[in-house]
Amino acid sequence: MFSVIKAVQGKRWRNWSHTSESTPEKTFYPSSIEEVVFIVQEALRQKKKIRVVGAGHSFTKLVETNDWLISLDSLSGIEQIDEANGMVTVLGGTRLYQLGEGLGLAGYAQENLGDINVQSIAGAISTGTHGTGVGFGSIPSQVVELTIVTGTGEILTVSEKQNGDYFKACLVSLGSLGIIVKVKLRIIKSPVYEYRSEKVEYGIFLERLKNYIIENRHFEFYLFPYSDVVQVKRMNSTSRKPQRLFFHHFKNLLLENYLFFALSEFSRLFPRSSSTISRLSAKGVGKTTIVATSHKLFATPRLVKFREIEYCIPLANLKVAIQEVRECIEVKKYNVHFPIECRTVKADDIWLSPSYQRESAYIAFHMYKGMPYDEYFRDMEAIMQKYEGRPHWGKMHNLGKRDLFKIYPKLTGFLAIRQELDPQEIFLNDYIKDILVGKEVDKYLQENR
Ligand SMILES: Cc1cc2nc3c(=O)[nH]c(=O)nc-3n(C[C@H](O)[C@H](O)[C@H](O)COP(=O)(O)OP(=O)(O)OC[C@H]3O[C@@H](n4cnc5c(N)ncnc54)[C@H](O)[C@@H]3O)c2cc1C
Repeated sequence: MFSVIKAVQGKRWRNWSHTSESTPEKTFYPSSIEEVVFIVQEALRQKKKIRVVGAGHSFTKLVETNDWLISLDSLSGIEQIDEANGMVTVLGGTRLYQLGEGLGLAGYAQENLGDINVQSIAGAISTGTHGTGVGFGSIPSQVVELTIVTGTGEILTVSEKQNGDYFKACLVSLGSLGIIVKVKLRIIKSPVYEYRSEKVEYGIFLERLKNYIIENRHFEFYLFPYSDVVQVKRMNSTSRKPQRLFFHHFKNLLLENYLFFALSEFSRLFPRSSSTISRLSAKGVGKTTIVATSHKLFATPRLVKFREIEYCIPLANLKVAIQEVRECIEVKKYNVHFPIECRTVKADDIWLSPSYQRESAYIAFHMYKGMPYDEYFRDMEAIMQKYEGRPHWGKMHNLGKRDLFKIYPKLTGFLAIRQELDPQEIFLNDYIKDILVGKEVDKYLQENR
């Protein structure tokens, strides 16, 4: 059986942002759960390590391996839509756009999404991928049931009622507890939304911020460095008819991708122009209103490559944190033209979720590929840490084990379950060892038992 599983030898892998790459000895493309089990059993026998890749859209070295890589691209698709209970069952490799299209055809949708839809459902769950809207949790909080293949090759199904602790640990687990092969998600009847984008003067924006958060189903904003203009984006349900989006998507492609790419290249070549480019981009924000079904509105194409950090802070700290961010950029005169993206998320109870037990705001900092980012990111991280920030697991950060233990109260429990589900440590790579496990952690666990 093992020999018939589709596999390629020595195929180089690289992530979307080109910040991580490796050449796995073998990359497997299983097309059934049984094949995933066989690969794990064979890895145990041959003493190989395994990492799983989704769409490779994480910025960190989560996926890197020189041993075996598994892609679930051939284990994808919707298995069943349970209309009576408002749930969908999908295979782990399903991309979010596939899920959105399939659900859309049946008149359903995910309740919330991020700003792209190319990720795999398992990858999005594993790093705590989120959208915006204080009434909605992150994508893993939509999950009702998970089926994983553990590090001993067993098939384990977990839910709130069945192995509840394992469920809370497995949802955001960075591919380190098992291979997510099947997911059951809560869904909603496909809503039609009115999307509005406009620019607002910073002082007025601050006065309205609280109301924007409370009054809108999905609300986010972009702060433009060196500018007093804020872009406000809102999405709310409407009874209006969906419109054709061809022109909107064409405009997006042209302005937010091709024009922005040209401006970004200019900024890279002439870094001191960044502040002017940021102000120009802010001025260029027009007033837009569009009506469409949800899966056509949430995501937009992202063709301009960048580096990114994103932190999740308590929502109550949002206002003071953004004030400090703006001041720091101006005082330190950072050459940055990418706007700062701010979103909100409901609290959840997923052990390694950045929004664990707190209503949160996410603040994301980007830097164009090829421009220096380290100092800028470190300063922004210091502000985020001051306001109790937890980093997004799929984005860059400089936190170590001890920092993570301080901000994740359930990390000890998570690691205990990790040892149970993967006793031979086949799902660990150097990066996971660096940030989560190792001797230092064993010592910490002993001291804090
Ligand atoms: C342009 C861009 C826009 C983005 N927008 C957002 C956004 O709006 N909101 C947000 O929160 N994040 C966003 N992200 C981050 C992104 O959603 C996450 O990094 C997500 O994990 C990527 O999914 P993926 O399928 O590419 O997973 P990968 O990056 O391939 O993998 C991520 C992790 O999941 C694990 N994994 C993958 N498949 C499985 C599996 N079947 N079983 C177990 N583990 C698995 C991997 O081992 C790895 O640890 C964005 C990233 C980019 C590049």
